[in-house]
Parts: sequence; C-alpha cells; structure tokens
Amino acid sequence: MVNKHHITAATFCDGAAILRAGGLVAFPTETVYGLGADACNTAAVNRLFAAKGRPSFNPLIAHLATAEGVFEIAQETPSSRLLAQHFWPGPLTMVLAQQAHSQISTVATAGLDSCAFRVPANADAKALLTAFNGPVVAPSANPSGQVSPTTAGHVADGLGNKIDLILDGGRCQIGLESTVIDARGAVPRILRPGAITASMLAAVLGCDIGEITSAKSDDAVTAPGMLASHYAPHHAVRLNAAQPRPGEAYLGIGELPAHDGPCLTLSASGDLQEAAANLFAMLRDLDRTVIDGIAVAPIADDGIGAAINDRLRRAAAPRDDPTAAACRDRV
Ligand code: AMP
Ligand code: MG
Repeated sequence: MVNKHHITAATFCDGAAILRAGGLVAFPTETVYGLGADACNTAAVNRLFAAKGRPSFNPLIAHLATAEGVFEIAQETPSSRLLAQHFWPGPLTMVLAQQAHSQISTVATAGLDSCAFRVPANADAKALLTAFNGPVVAPSANPSGQVSPTTAGHVADGLGNKIDLILDGGRCQIGLESTVIDARGAVPRILRPGAITASMLAAVLGCDIGEITSAKSDDAVTAPGMLASHYAPHHAVRLNAAQPRPGEAYLGIGELPAHDGPCLTLSASGDLQEAAANLFAMLRDLDRTVIDGIAVAPIADDGIGAAINDRLRRAAAPRDDPTAAACRDRV
C-alpha cells in the first residue's frame, strides 16, 4: 500500500531521495498530477512506462525547476527563449533539440533526438524539482489511456499499488495537460492544445496567429503518442449533446436541462477555465454512476475551450480506432 502524504517540508526531501533511488513519485502540478521518475535513469524510466502501461513509442516530458536548468541541457532557440520568459514557470511544454552532454535516457524520449521540456508553476512541484536538482520525467499519474488525475485520490485509485509515494497538494488549478509545442523553428507548431493558446503564443512572438500551425491527431512523426483514443472513461462518451437521452449521465455547462439521471455542470456560470478544472474529476464521478453512457454538452471552442474539446474528442473516440494502430506502426 502506497503512502499518500500530505505535503510537509520533509516530504520533498523524501520524494527527491526516492527519485534518486530510481523510484516513482506522484506529485501535483498546476495542470494534472504527474508521475515522476529520474529522467536520466533508464531503469526508473522503464518502471514508469510499465506502471502506466504506456506504449514505449510515446515520449515523456522532462520537468525542471527553472528555465536556466532546461537550457543547460536543451538547445535554446530565439522563440524558445522568448516563450520561456513569458510562460515559464507554467503550463507550456517545448520540444527542443538536446545538447550533446544531455544525460536524459533515450527510453524517455522514445529514441528521438529531441526532448520535451517544462517548468511547472505549482509550488509543490517546484519544491520537489529543486530538491531533486535534475530533470524529472512526469507523464500524468494514471494508467495509460484513462482519464488524467487532478487529485491525489485519483492517483491512488489508478496507480496506488504501483508507485512509491504520492505527494498530496490538493486539486490541480488548471486541470488539463500542458500545451505542447515544437519550439525548434522560428514559429512554433502546436502538438497538443492546452491553457496556453495559439493567440497567446502569437502575441508574445509578434507573429500572425495563422503562422502557428497545429499537428493533426494522426501526425505520428511530429506528435508521437497523440492517440485518437485517450483520456477515456469506462463508459462511452457522446459529444455535442444538447439534451441527455434516457439512461445517460449528462455533463453540461451553464444551466442544466431537466433530466432523470446523474447530471453535473462543468461551470454554472459557463466559465471555460472553471470547466477545464472540473472536466476530468466530473468525468470520473459520472463514470462511477451506473449508466448507459455519458452525454456532454457542446463546449465553445474559444481559448481553453479548444483544449477541452481536444480532450473530449479523444475521450469519445472509438477505443480501437485504427489511427491509434497506425500511429503505433509508424513510430
Ligand atoms: P504526456 O502524455 O502528458 O506526458 O505528454 C507527452 C506528449 O508530448 C507526448 O505524447 C508527445 O506527443 C509529446 N512529446 C513529448 N516528447 C516529444 C518529442 N521529443 N517530440 C514531439 N513530441 C513530443
Ligand atoms: Mg497522460
């Protein structure tokens, strides 16, 4: 049985010691809970892939306490420097080339020369990374393909018996995984939408929003691991449902329609940030009720709404979608 620790100063040192010994430590970030392992320890990274059941072609994000720490091992580009100044610490992940002396395990990068990097803003994540003093790979702390955890309880539900420590820092503030961009060129390419939107990136870089392209979900070369089916509850998900059908649970936004079954609103006031923060926890809650499926209201595609819709599309995708198999074959 795993120890679920409420965080004290000592637990950061305990967490760092477990990471140094090759163990797995779940910790809060502002996006979702991450499952951390020493990025330079191949045995630890292999343990992480095994604990999650994550396909080996899906590369991990290396987390560091500071942007300076990232640029000690990653090759800086003009756009990455500027974006780091504006968005780190925060929910932006940048794919960059590695410097020759980088010790990050090739298992963590799925054999790619590049590596994804992030500096999280959450104070507990920062304290753990500072105590560890090196890159920590940390995918979401859940079995691969399932709904990401936004509380320590969610982590314990999915992985409790497979990991060494869970640091409990309460609910994650943003609730959706980071925006992932390829920052190697002059203009970034969005590999996964998140709280940092294309218009926010364009404003900082002084470019036209149209210049910032997005990878398609079947773009296996630039966005390995972005599978069509992901973030999936156990029950089927039906999107853009103005009304629930009899027997369905309903996940709405704003005021809820009358319904004789489980119903939750992502945000009573229709606020998209609040909706993002509630999305995964509410999908989990509805999934636990005995129902035929989960119907989800249409969500506006503005701002963080685009990231909510990306996660919902993957939650609703057929579980044996051929795109997933195609991705696997090509990487
Ligand atoms: P997560 O599943 O939240 O750990 O997100 C990691 C995602 O970032 C992966 O699924 C990839 O799509 C993307 N990623 C990580 N490393 C790279 C890389 N070197 N090149 C391109 N995409 C990457
Ligand atoms: Mg994940």
